[in-house]
Amino acid sequence: MEVLDSSVGRGGRNRYRDVITVQNLLNDCRHALPSLAFLDVDGDCGPGTIAAIEQFQRDILGVNSPDGRVDPNGRTIRRLNELSEEQPGEQAPQSSGRIGECFFPVKRRLDASYKDGPRRFGSNRSRGRKHAGCDLYAPAGTPIFAMQDGEVMRDVSLFYAGTFSLEVKHKDFVARYCEIKGALRGIKKGTKIRKGQLIGKIGKLQLNNFDKTMLHLEIYKGNAAGRLTNKNNLPFKRRQDLMDPTPILDKAQRRRRNMR
Ligand SMILES: [Zn+2]
Repeated sequence: MEVLDSSVGRGGRNRYRDVITVQNLLNDCRHALPSLAFLDVDGDCGPGTIAAIEQFQRDILGVNSPDGRVDPNGRTIRRLNELSEEQPGEQAPQSSGRIGECFFPVKRRLDASYKDGPRRFGSNRSRGRKHAGCDLYAPAGTPIFAMQDGEVMRDVSLFYAGTFSLEVKHKDFVARYCEIKGALRGIKKGTKIRKGQLIGKIGKLQLNNFDKTMLHLEIYKGNAAGRLTNKNNLPFKRRQDLMDPTPILDKAQRRRRNMR
Protein backbone atom coordinates (compact mmCIF):
# COMPACT_ATOMS: atom_id res chain seq x y z
CA MET A 1 0.00 0.00 0.00
CA GLU A 2 1.60 3.23 -1.22
CA VAL A 3 0.80 6.53 0.48
CA LEU A 4 1.28 10.10 -0.69
CA ASP A 5 2.38 13.04 1.44
CA SER A 6 0.82 15.54 -0.92
CA SER A 7 -1.07 15.71 -4.21
CA VAL A 8 0.34 14.74 -7.61
CA GLY A 9 -0.83 15.89 -11.05
CA ARG A 10 -2.44 19.01 -12.45
CA GLY A 11 -2.20 21.79 -9.84
CA GLY A 12 -0.68 19.37 -7.32
CA ARG A 13 2.38 19.93 -5.15
CA ASN A 14 4.22 17.28 -7.17
CA ARG A 15 6.94 16.43 -4.73
CA TYR A 16 9.58 14.19 -6.31
CA ARG A 17 8.94 11.15 -4.12
CA ASP A 18 5.17 11.34 -4.52
CA VAL A 19 5.44 11.66 -8.30
CA ILE A 20 7.69 8.55 -8.36
CA THR A 21 5.05 6.67 -6.35
CA VAL A 22 2.23 7.63 -8.72
CA GLN A 23 4.28 6.85 -11.83
CA ASN A 24 5.16 3.40 -10.46
CA LEU A 25 1.52 2.74 -9.53
CA LEU A 26 0.24 3.78 -12.95
CA ASN A 27 2.78 1.50 -14.63
CA ASP A 28 1.72 -1.34 -12.34
CA CYS A 29 -1.93 -0.86 -13.34
CA ARG A 30 -1.37 -1.35 -17.04
CA HIS A 31 -2.64 -4.93 -16.82
CA ALA A 32 -6.10 -3.38 -16.21
CA LEU A 33 -5.71 -0.63 -18.81
CA PRO A 34 -3.27 -1.77 -21.50
CA SER A 35 -3.71 1.42 -23.57
CA LEU A 36 -2.11 3.42 -20.74
CA ALA A 37 1.29 4.67 -21.92
CA PHE A 38 4.26 3.26 -20.06
CA LEU A 39 5.72 6.15 -18.03
CA ASP A 40 9.33 6.97 -17.32
CA VAL A 41 9.64 6.83 -13.54
CA ASP A 42 11.57 10.09 -13.25
CA GLY A 43 9.78 12.03 -10.51
CA ASP A 44 8.85 14.76 -12.98
CA CYS A 45 5.10 15.34 -13.33
CA GLY A 46 4.97 16.35 -17.00
CA PRO A 47 2.12 16.23 -19.56
CA GLY A 48 2.52 12.45 -20.06
CA THR A 49 2.01 11.71 -16.37
CA ILE A 50 -0.96 14.09 -16.13
CA ALA A 51 -2.53 12.53 -19.25
CA ALA A 52 -2.07 9.06 -17.71
CA ILE A 53 -3.77 10.16 -14.47
CA GLU A 54 -6.68 11.59 -16.49
CA GLN A 55 -7.00 8.43 -18.55
CA PHE A 56 -7.00 6.33 -15.38
CA GLN A 57 -9.71 8.52 -13.81
CA ARG A 58 -11.83 8.44 -16.96
CA ASP A 59 -11.49 4.77 -17.91
CA ILE A 60 -11.10 3.09 -14.52
CA LEU A 61 -13.00 5.39 -12.15
CA GLY A 62 -15.60 6.38 -14.76
CA VAL A 63 -15.17 10.12 -14.19
CA ASN A 64 -16.45 12.22 -17.12
CA SER A 65 -14.26 15.27 -16.55
CA PRO A 66 -11.17 14.06 -14.70
CA ASP A 67 -9.13 16.61 -12.76
CA GLY A 68 -5.79 14.87 -13.49
CA ARG A 69 -4.76 15.00 -9.85
CA VAL A 70 -4.08 12.26 -7.27
CA ASP A 71 -4.83 13.41 -3.70
CA PRO A 72 -3.38 11.66 -0.62
CA ASN A 73 -6.71 10.30 0.60
CA GLY A 74 -8.72 10.40 -2.60
CA ARG A 75 -10.40 7.77 -4.74
CA THR A 76 -7.65 7.73 -7.35
CA ILE A 77 -4.84 6.68 -4.99
CA ARG A 78 -7.11 4.03 -3.40
CA ARG A 79 -7.95 2.49 -6.76
CA LEU A 80 -4.34 2.71 -7.97
CA ASN A 81 -3.26 0.76 -4.89
CA GLU A 82 -6.01 -1.84 -5.27
CA LEU A 83 -5.37 -2.46 -8.95
CA SER A 84 -1.58 -2.52 -8.72
CA GLU A 85 -1.80 -5.21 -6.05
CA GLU A 86 -4.12 -7.30 -8.20
CA GLN A 87 -1.44 -7.47 -10.83
CA PRO A 88 -0.97 -11.06 -11.97
CA GLY A 89 2.25 -12.32 -10.43
CA GLU A 90 5.01 -14.11 -12.22
CA GLN A 91 4.83 -17.83 -11.93
CA ALA A 92 6.92 -19.01 -9.01
CA PRO A 93 10.03 -21.03 -9.88
CA GLN A 94 9.01 -24.61 -10.52
CA SER A 95 11.94 -26.06 -8.63
CA SER A 96 11.03 -24.38 -5.29
CA GLY A 97 14.15 -22.25 -5.29
CA ARG A 98 16.65 -24.84 -6.50
CA ILE A 99 18.55 -23.50 -9.46
CA GLY A 100 19.41 -25.98 -12.19
CA GLU A 101 22.27 -25.95 -14.65
CA CYS A 102 23.11 -22.57 -16.13
CA PHE A 103 25.13 -21.33 -19.04
CA PHE A 104 27.68 -18.60 -18.23
CA PRO A 105 26.37 -15.59 -20.21
CA VAL A 106 29.72 -14.43 -21.65
CA LYS A 107 32.10 -16.86 -23.38
CA ARG A 108 35.26 -14.79 -23.53
CA ARG A 109 37.55 -14.23 -20.56
CA LEU A 110 36.29 -11.28 -18.49
CA ASP A 111 38.43 -8.13 -18.11
CA ALA A 112 37.93 -8.23 -14.31
CA SER A 113 36.26 -10.37 -11.65
CA TYR A 114 32.55 -9.82 -11.05
CA LYS A 115 33.22 -10.45 -7.34
CA ASP A 116 35.52 -7.50 -6.62
CA GLY A 117 35.32 -3.72 -6.38
CA PRO A 118 32.39 -1.84 -7.86
CA ARG A 119 31.47 -4.86 -10.00
CA ARG A 120 30.40 -6.88 -6.96
CA PHE A 121 26.73 -7.35 -6.01
CA GLY A 122 25.90 -5.08 -3.06
CA SER A 123 28.84 -2.71 -3.57
CA ASN A 124 28.13 0.88 -2.60
CA ARG A 125 26.75 3.44 -4.99
CA SER A 126 25.95 7.11 -4.44
CA ARG A 127 23.31 8.27 -1.95
CA GLY A 128 23.06 5.00 -0.05
CA ARG A 129 22.15 2.87 -3.04
CA LYS A 130 23.72 -0.57 -3.50
CA HIS A 131 24.67 -2.34 -6.72
CA ALA A 132 21.78 -4.61 -7.72
CA GLY A 133 23.73 -7.01 -9.92
CA CYS A 134 27.12 -8.29 -11.00
CA ASP A 135 29.15 -6.52 -13.68
CA LEU A 136 30.85 -8.75 -16.25
CA TYR A 137 33.43 -6.48 -17.90
CA ALA A 138 34.11 -7.25 -21.56
CA PRO A 139 34.46 -5.17 -24.74
CA ALA A 140 31.45 -3.55 -26.44
CA GLY A 141 29.94 -5.96 -28.95
CA THR A 142 30.78 -9.09 -26.91
CA PRO A 143 27.98 -11.64 -27.46
CA ILE A 144 25.68 -12.52 -24.54
CA PHE A 145 24.13 -15.98 -24.21
CA ALA A 146 20.96 -17.11 -22.42
CA MET A 147 21.68 -18.71 -19.03
CA GLN A 148 18.76 -21.16 -19.29
CA ASP A 149 15.74 -21.84 -21.51
CA GLY A 150 13.15 -19.12 -21.12
CA GLU A 151 10.83 -16.53 -22.54
CA VAL A 152 11.40 -12.81 -23.08
CA MET A 153 9.16 -10.90 -20.65
CA ARG A 154 9.22 -7.41 -22.20
CA ASP A 155 10.43 -5.77 -25.34
CA VAL A 156 14.05 -4.68 -25.01
CA SER A 157 13.92 -1.28 -23.32
CA LEU A 158 16.17 1.64 -22.48
CA PHE A 159 18.12 0.97 -19.29
CA TYR A 160 20.87 3.50 -18.62
CA ALA A 161 22.94 6.06 -20.55
CA GLY A 162 21.97 4.84 -24.00
CA THR A 163 22.16 1.12 -23.19
CA PHE A 164 19.30 -1.36 -23.01
CA SER A 165 17.98 -4.22 -20.90
CA LEU A 166 16.46 -7.59 -21.75
CA GLU A 167 14.24 -9.33 -19.18
CA VAL A 168 13.91 -13.10 -19.46
CA LYS A 169 11.78 -15.49 -17.42
CA HIS A 170 14.09 -18.48 -17.23
CA LYS A 171 13.18 -21.92 -15.93
CA ASP A 172 14.36 -21.26 -12.35
CA PHE A 173 14.65 -17.45 -12.09
CA VAL A 174 14.22 -14.14 -13.88
CA ALA A 175 17.34 -12.58 -15.38
CA ARG A 176 17.73 -8.99 -16.49
CA TYR A 177 20.61 -8.61 -18.94
CA CYS A 178 21.54 -4.90 -18.85
CA GLU A 179 23.81 -2.33 -20.47
CA ILE A 180 23.41 -4.14 -23.75
CA LYS A 181 23.03 -2.84 -27.31
CA GLY A 182 19.50 -2.64 -28.73
CA ALA A 183 17.47 -5.74 -29.48
CA LEU A 184 18.77 -8.45 -31.78
CA ARG A 185 16.45 -9.31 -34.65
CA GLY A 186 13.60 -11.50 -33.42
CA ILE A 187 14.17 -10.87 -29.71
CA LYS A 188 11.00 -9.31 -28.34
CA LYS A 189 8.28 -9.89 -25.76
CA GLY A 190 7.14 -13.51 -25.87
CA THR A 191 10.16 -14.85 -27.80
CA LYS A 192 11.09 -18.34 -26.57
CA ILE A 193 14.81 -18.78 -26.12
CA ARG A 194 17.10 -21.73 -25.50
CA LYS A 195 19.95 -22.08 -23.04
CA GLY A 196 23.16 -20.86 -24.67
CA GLN A 197 21.35 -18.95 -27.43
CA LEU A 198 22.78 -15.59 -28.51
CA ILE A 199 20.39 -12.98 -27.07
CA GLY A 200 22.29 -9.69 -27.23
CA LYS A 201 25.61 -7.88 -27.28
CA ILE A 202 27.35 -5.68 -24.76
CA GLY A 203 26.59 -1.99 -25.36
CA LYS A 204 28.50 1.19 -24.76
CA LEU A 205 27.42 3.64 -22.07
CA GLN A 206 27.10 7.22 -23.30
CA LEU A 207 29.02 8.73 -20.42
CA ASN A 208 31.87 11.22 -20.64
CA ASN A 209 33.84 10.12 -17.61
CA PHE A 210 33.46 6.33 -17.79
CA ASP A 211 34.65 4.07 -20.60
CA LYS A 212 34.17 0.55 -19.16
CA THR A 213 31.74 -1.74 -20.96
CA MET A 214 29.97 -4.66 -19.35
CA LEU A 215 27.03 -6.96 -18.98
CA HIS A 216 25.28 -5.77 -15.81
CA LEU A 217 23.35 -8.88 -14.75
CA GLU A 218 20.44 -8.90 -12.28
CA ILE A 219 18.71 -12.04 -11.00
CA TYR A 220 15.26 -12.28 -9.38
CA LYS A 221 13.52 -15.26 -7.82
CA GLY A 222 10.55 -14.55 -10.07
CA ASN A 223 7.88 -14.92 -7.39
CA ALA A 224 6.98 -11.23 -7.03
CA ALA A 225 4.83 -9.02 -9.25
CA GLY A 226 5.52 -5.67 -10.87
CA ARG A 227 8.42 -3.87 -12.47
CA LEU A 228 11.97 -4.98 -11.66
CA THR A 229 13.11 -1.41 -10.95
CA ASN A 230 11.40 0.05 -7.89
CA LYS A 231 12.93 3.36 -6.94
CA ASN A 232 11.17 3.33 -3.56
CA ASN A 233 12.76 0.07 -2.48
CA LEU A 234 16.14 1.04 -1.03
CA PRO A 235 19.00 0.19 -0.93
CA PHE A 236 18.87 -1.68 -4.26
CA LYS A 237 15.90 0.21 -5.80
CA ARG A 238 14.72 -3.10 -7.16
CA ARG A 239 11.77 -5.46 -6.70
CA GLN A 240 11.89 -7.36 -3.42
CA ASP A 241 12.68 -10.77 -4.95
CA LEU A 242 16.11 -9.56 -6.14
CA MET A 243 18.87 -12.16 -5.61
CA ASP A 244 22.65 -12.10 -5.55
CA PRO A 245 23.77 -13.55 -8.92
CA THR A 246 27.25 -14.49 -7.61
CA PRO A 247 26.62 -18.13 -6.62
CA ILE A 248 24.76 -18.83 -9.86
CA LEU A 249 27.58 -17.32 -11.93
CA ASP A 250 30.23 -19.18 -9.91
CA LYS A 251 28.51 -22.49 -10.52
CA ALA A 252 28.05 -21.81 -14.24
CA GLN A 253 31.71 -20.83 -14.55
CA ARG A 254 32.92 -23.98 -12.76
CA ARG A 255 30.79 -26.08 -15.08
CA ARG A 256 32.19 -24.32 -18.15
CA ARG A 257 35.78 -24.92 -16.98
CA ASN A 258 35.05 -28.60 -16.42
CA MET A 259 33.71 -28.95 -19.95
CA ARG A 260 36.91 -27.70 -21.56
ZN1 LIG B 1 26.30 -2.93 -12.66
